[in-house]
Amino acid sequence: MKRFARLNTLSALLLAASLTTGIAHAQLAPSAPAAGAPTQASEARKANIVIIGTGGTIAGAGAAATNTAAYQSAVVPVDKIIASVPEISKIANVKGEQVFQIGSESFNNERLLKLGKRVSELLKQPDVDGIVITHGTDTIEETTYFLNLTLKSDKPVVVVGSMRPGTALGADGALNLYDAVLVASSPESRGKGTLAVLNDEIHTGRDVTKSNTFKIETFRSPFGPLGYVVEGRTLYYRLPARPHTMQTEWDIDKIDKLPEVAVVYAYGNVNPASIDAAVKNGAKAIVYAATGNGSVGDYMVEPLKAARAKGVQIVRASRTGGGVVVRNAEQPDDKYDWLVTDDQLPQKARILMALALTKTNDTKELQKIFWKY
Ligand code: GLU
Repeated sequence: MKRFARLNTLSALLLAASLTTGIAHAQLAPSAPAAGAPTQASEARKANIVIIGTGGTIAGAGAAATNTAAYQSAVVPVDKIIASVPEISKIANVKGEQVFQIGSESFNNERLLKLGKRVSELLKQPDVDGIVITHGTDTIEETTYFLNLTLKSDKPVVVVGSMRPGTALGADGALNLYDAVLVASSPESRGKGTLAVLNDEIHTGRDVTKSNTFKIETFRSPFGPLGYVVEGRTLYYRLPARPHTMQTEWDIDKIDKLPEVAVVYAYGNVNPASIDAAVKNGAKAIVYAATGNGSVGDYMVEPLKAARAKGVQIVRASRTGGGVVVRNAEQPDDKYDWLVTDDQLPQKARILMALALTKTNDTKELQKIFWKY
């Protein structure tokens, strides 16, 4: 990757005066807003941001402008996406890097690790102030949570996607990308963990989830977004309560393989053979996306107990999409040596469980990890 352009003299002085953040604060700039006013990255020296392309709808193209939901994803190279938003060059020095060109449903453990390791490498470069990752929206919630738990840096990392391809009427990708660069350039974004930016909102990687198949307001966090991006300003209103990045026990540089964790979805007439299949496929844990508050059908209890007897961890989650699965309520978890997810959705619990298993196989310790993260 090419180095970033040298800073001009004034910018270099401002940078030297701003040792704590690495990015000059707007308050140091001659035209600084009143104390307490939101910071605009463009008022200080421009931050150096690497935009990593991985594919998705933000790199998609349709046959006609009216194709807002039927189109091909992951076809436009990241440099072309960046060039299509010239406003970005006014707020940051950006460089594109294509790591993948895929639909995000094609992410697997290997791709997740490869992306995380590259992001980690870039974050260590002193001339990189932040990272933006363009990504399909389908699994942004998994990638963002994974990076939130494993990156060892305070520098902002922002994952962004779009619900409509750039060719569509009302395309949302250009503004989402602009906002993501703005958030990644903002000193206030440091130390807040991996973030997801879409539809004017900033979400924590821990909580964000996709909630609608086609609407641009698809992303939600059960406790609300951390903030907004409005008219080129990054506005935060709350902080992530759970440990992330620097505060966690995982370091992406030290993880070379993730253990197999299966998610089995519960429904009326769910086939117990799905549990056996997961065990036969080498699952070290099964996240059971159970009904309601983690309830388990009477005919599913024995298959799950049998899997546990073979050493496979059982995690009760909920398919409802919200709320806490209460330990020892719907099922006697202590007696069966099972786990509950706290409030994590099954697909996010899968990420946490895979990471947790790189540290311990002790059920009590694993349960503590679920309560903690
Ligand atoms: N399924 C594709 C993906 O997740 C396109 C969906 C999107 O990005 O909105 O990459």
